[in-house]
Amino acid sequence: MYNKNSNKAEEFINHEEIMRTLDWAERNKNNIPLIESILDKAKPRKTGNETHCSGLTHEEASLLLACDDEEILKKVYALAEEIKQAFYGDRIVIFAPLYLSNYCVNGCVYCPYHYKNKHIARKKLTQDEVKAEVIALQDMGHKRLAIESGEDPVNNPIEYILECIKTIYSIKHKNGDIRRVNVNIAATTVENYKKLKDAGIGTYILFQETYHKDSYEKLHPTGPKHNYAYHTEAMDRAMEGGIDDVGLGVLFGLERYKYEFAGLLMHAEHLEAVHGVGPHTISVPRIKKADDIDPSAFDNGISDEIFAKLVALIRIAVPYTGMIISTRESKEVREKLLRLGVSQVSGASRTSVGGYTEEERPTDTEQFDVSDQRTLDEVVKWLIELGYIPSFCTACYRAGRTGDRFMSLCKSGQIQNCCHPNALMTLKEFLEDYATSDTKSLGNSLIEKELEKIPNEKTRQIAKDNIKKIADGVRDFRF
Ligand code: SAM
Repeated sequence: MYNKNSNKAEEFINHEEIMRTLDWAERNKNNIPLIESILDKAKPRKTGNETHCSGLTHEEASLLLACDDEEILKKVYALAEEIKQAFYGDRIVIFAPLYLSNYCVNGCVYCPYHYKNKHIARKKLTQDEVKAEVIALQDMGHKRLAIESGEDPVNNPIEYILECIKTIYSIKHKNGDIRRVNVNIAATTVENYKKLKDAGIGTYILFQETYHKDSYEKLHPTGPKHNYAYHTEAMDRAMEGGIDDVGLGVLFGLERYKYEFAGLLMHAEHLEAVHGVGPHTISVPRIKKADDIDPSAFDNGISDEIFAKLVALIRIAVPYTGMIISTRESKEVREKLLRLGVSQVSGASRTSVGGYTEEERPTDTEQFDVSDQRTLDEVVKWLIELGYIPSFCTACYRAGRTGDRFMSLCKSGQIQNCCHPNALMTLKEFLEDYATSDTKSLGNSLIEKELEKIPNEKTRQIAKDNIKKIADGVRDFRF
């Protein structure tokens, strides 16, 4: 039976409830007055200085997804843009993945790291190699990483992951430093989540892949990941272990997107109901070509149009959750999704183990094809030209604004007052230390213009002073 407060996967992601929701949405998809009233409910509302948004239930959002009226779709896009602007402004946070090891004991049929793949090169970084990769990432200008690893208790035990995190945080090369390490590793125990928390990680990210239990079991035929309940309840264990910020995701293409969408929102509702805080981020990967993986072998691939609609509806349904789009997507697709609600992008990613220290993009240990292969400088320049503020800020995490503290700041619309100046200061660091001259001059004009938009005079002056200090070579800030 469906129960969002339950600690059992099959009750909070309940198959019958999803089927009932999809059926109800299908039957009501032409009920325009009902749809209009849901859109109205989801609008940002100002009370005093604060902006609030109600978000939507999985049922309401599924109805909007089912509706294919052109006029409604236009309204959905406009509302997604409005919400994005209200809570995130023009800032786009930038990060890069760092692959530690592709040893894996699982049998995931969509991933080339599956244990049956005997011809892919297996590699695990030594601590010296981690150091070299981090220096290469710092030399591009990165401050925020997401570490990635296959699941292998012998080759990649938790001690190995912890050692890598320690190494990453310890490296200070020139003006570089990695200030936030997010972690995307397999579901684990409460005890191990506590260890990750103590190691100072940012977000714990784990993609559900699919919420459909039967499909999940077929797509993960062997290995520890086969256990649907253990995987689906991982975020509860992470939160029990003290990790405030968790990141959800679905690998689109594995199952029917309407099913996944309802499941994803039910997962968010469950976290909010039980832990008082929803997911910090949602990622929306689509299956890509990889070593022995052909995406066309999966029947549920989604078009760019459906993908955009999904992103816009996630923005509307969970307005306070960051949304991440990786370099799996092309520049063109990313450009469209940025407007509709994405708040974080990866840049200059290498999805191979040890890829950042190679001149050419290595493919022998790669997890999947990267569509957007631009340099970080090109990504930053592109964002500025589109009118965004590329941000390398990690200040919330440093100041302990995680979990419900971050959420309440975000809910009250205050995140912009505090994030906007920080974004400008971290962009200034990037421009001074790593940018090409073109990007630097574009970025400096943007900063000048944006500084004037800071409403509070005192905050504006502090930001101006700090930016001047950064230009003079001072680097003792902890954004
Ligand atoms: N091994 C970890 C686990 O068990 O969750 C996660 C790390 S894995 C490196 C990160 C994610 O890449 C997976 O969760 C999956 O969604 C995604 N992925 C795997 N194969 C992919 C493919 N062929 N195309 C796109 N994304 C893929």
